[in-house]
Parts: sequence; C-alpha cells; structure tokens
Amino acid sequence: MNIIVQKYGGTSVGNIPKIKSVADRILKAKSSGAAMVVVVSAMGHTTDRLVNLARAITRKPSRREMDMLLSTGEQISIALLSLAIQERGAKAISLTGLQSGIVTDANYSMAKIKSVKTDSIVSQLEKDHVVIVAGFQGVSNGFEITTLGRGGSDTTASALAVALQARCCEIYTDVEGVYTTDPNLVPEAKKLHYISYEEMVELAGAGAQVLHPRSVEIAMKFGVPIAVRPSYSDAPGTVVMEAAKLENVVITGVTGNKNIAKVAIRGIPDRPGVAAQIFSALGSQGINIRLIIQSIAADGLNDISLVVSREFVKQAAEVLEGQRRSLKAKEIVCHDKLAEVSIVGSGIASTPGVAARMFKILAKQKINIDLISSSEVRITCVIDEKRTPEAIRALHQEFRLEKLQRGLARK
Ligand code: ADP
Ligand code: ASP
Ligand code: MG
Repeated sequence: MNIIVQKYGGTSVGNIPKIKSVADRILKAKSSGAAMVVVVSAMGHTTDRLVNLARAITRKPSRREMDMLLSTGEQISIALLSLAIQERGAKAISLTGLQSGIVTDANYSMAKIKSVKTDSIVSQLEKDHVVIVAGFQGVSNGFEITTLGRGGSDTTASALAVALQARCCEIYTDVEGVYTTDPNLVPEAKKLHYISYEEMVELAGAGAQVLHPRSVEIAMKFGVPIAVRPSYSDAPGTVVMEAAKLENVVITGVTGNKNIAKVAIRGIPDRPGVAAQIFSALGSQGINIRLIIQSIAADGLNDISLVVSREFVKQAAEVLEGQRRSLKAKEIVCHDKLAEVSIVGSGIASTPGVAARMFKILAKQKINIDLISSSEVRITCVIDEKRTPEAIRALHQEFRLEKLQRGLARK
C-alpha cells in the first residue's frame, strides 16, 4: 500500500476554520492515490489548559490521572477532523492510541512506544478510510492510558510511519520548517532545506521544540525520512535525512532550553563507590540526568552537580537528601534559574577551535558559563536563564548562521 503519514500540530488545528483547511489538505494528498494516516495534536493550548485544571486541585497530581486527563485533548481534535472530512463526502475514522494499536511501557507522562499493532489501521485503510490517530497517547500492556511526553505527537507519527512502512512522515506545523534557530526568537534565522538525523536529534534534545527528540530517533533507526512543513502553505519545508547524503557544515543550528535545573550534593567524603551509589538511587526513580559534573573540592571532599529537566528537580533533590545522610555529605543545593544554550553541527568534532569560539562569544556578552558538556555534534553551556535570548542571538550572529547554505552532497 502507498501510505503517507501526516501529523498536524496544535496550532494547525487550533480552531474550526483551521481544522476545515487541514481536511482539505488531507483530501488533496489522498487524491494522488495515497492511503492517508493522519496524526493530530490537541487544539491550540488545550493540553496546557488541562494541566492548569489539575494544578488548581493539587500540586502533586498522580501521573496516572494526568495521563488520563491529558489524553482527552487529542480525542477532541481527532473527532472534529474526522467530521470535517466526512462533511466533504470522504470516508474517515478517528482512533485513539488504544484503538490504533500503539502499545507503550507503563511509564506515565513519558511512556515509550514498544510496538504498533497495525491491523486495525490497515483494515480501515483497506476500506478507503482516512485514518485519524490521536497523537501523544498509547496504552500499556495492562490497558493503562499513557502519554509520550510533551510534544509527543511527532513520535506517534514517526512510529506509525515506521510500522506501516510509509513512504514519508510529514510533520505539518506553524513555521516553514527547521531553522538555524527558533525563527520566532531570531527573525534572521535561516530555513534549512536539509538536516541530518544526528543533528536533528541533538537540536531537539537541546530544546528546539519543532520536533520531539524521540520522533527523530525512531525515524533515524529505521531510515524513514521526515519532512517538516508549514500547514498553511505548499512550501517544501525541511527534510531530515542521512548525514552521508548531505554537504558537511560546521554548525547547523543554535538552541536554548530553559526547562532545566541544577542539583548539587556538596562535601561528599571522597571514596570509591560514591558516584555508583548516588546514580543508582537516581536511576531507580526513573530520573533522567542531562549532565553530570564531579569536582574535587579541598580536604578530600567532592561536589557532584547534575542537570535535570525541571520536572525532576524536586524528586532528584529528595533522592539526594536520602543519600546525603548515608554518605555523610554536607548539603544539597538546587538552582533552577538556569538554561542551556547549545550549538549543533556535523562538523563540530572535526573543526578545531569551535568550542573556544563559542566561549569567546559568550564572554564578549559577559555571560558566565556555569557548566559545559559536548557530544560529537553538539556543545552545550549552562548559563543564567535570563541571558538565554541574547546568548542565542549572539551565537547565531557570530557564526553567521543567517547565511548558512547547505545542499545535498555531490556524488
Ligand atoms: P506543533 O504544535 O506544530 O507541534 P511546536 O510549537 O511544537 O508546533 O513546534 C513549532 C515551534 O518550534 C515553532 O513555532 C518555533 O517557535 C519553535 N522552534 C524552536 N526552534 C526551532 C527551529 N530551530 N526551527 C523551527 N522552529 C523552532
Ligand atoms: N498535545 C500534546 C502537547 O501539547 C502533544 C503534542 O502537541 O505533540 O504536548
Ligand atoms: Mg510540537
């Protein structure tokens, strides 16, 4: 079957006229003979509103009930989009995560897709239905409703594209594609025609909201191209694909992430096994750690600092407080007014001096660097949260990203 998977984000289905126009776009694509599977997010700010409703009741909501609540947002948009397509005389059916066969682990609010049982989607496609799937949700083996983490509808789309062996996974959103940085923050940002999977995984993981990191990891693993396109025009957007097919560039993008916090355990007596004990305790609570720094302070005492996503900060501090007593460490310190700024590019590892240039640009702005981390294709600095926009603008300008040209590699 010639299957196209499309995904429309919250802004793109934010009101009824937009839902109607999405219905028109889907039917236009279908008229080329493709079988259409369409993933949709909740309308506009629905998910935020649902989060706020829960917060008005409790500061410590149960993760199970949050998933039960948040999964309702997508059910509204799938039903409305299905109605809009039916109103145009075509066949459509909306399916929840459970009905679409999206099986996840039982980790509420950040569940991972384990498998996709495609039978029910395929049987609806065979009956010529447009199949509309609720993004961001799945079901565990124990029939619990789960969600995939904020922004997770992209991951629903790429997992479906892989499972259905679709031709392409098209992500329709409110910008023209993937840019060198957030175009809503830096108007000079340049739209990229192409970006590699590796770069996109790093950009997304470092805070570029345009794609959910896991969606890119899944597409990369199975070699499915992702096209990021505007939902309001026919512009070609950005294709996420194999690095080997692309021209090499040193830096592709800059991004910021304010959703982080630092937790430090100070004055730990220096002896073997300390780090193992601390990180086993954190790991057993399912706390993801973005960055670890161990520094040796005076008198044989160590400090260990970790950077976590803000939603984990309280939990991480509680775990460390438990460890502090048994390790006879001095204190736990939390700091949440921090942000990460990252540069990403396939040529970073092979080009000497890039890190030094990044640090100099930040120094020129008198922005202090708290922590540094890097991978083959990324350098990240932790800085004061308030300075994030200027750091991003300065890095974008000094690396001349507004002039970035990147095409396909010459054979
Ligand atoms: P959707 O609701 O369609 O999923 P999102 O809000 O999740 O859309 O993602 C699109 C937004 O991502 C854009 O409006 C833009 O502000 C932001 N963004 C951040 N970094 C980038 C980038 N490098 N390229 C494009 N958009 C970016
Ligand atoms: N509606 C969910 C969210 O706002 C999922 C998504 O938009 O991808 O995070
Ligand atoms: Mg999104």
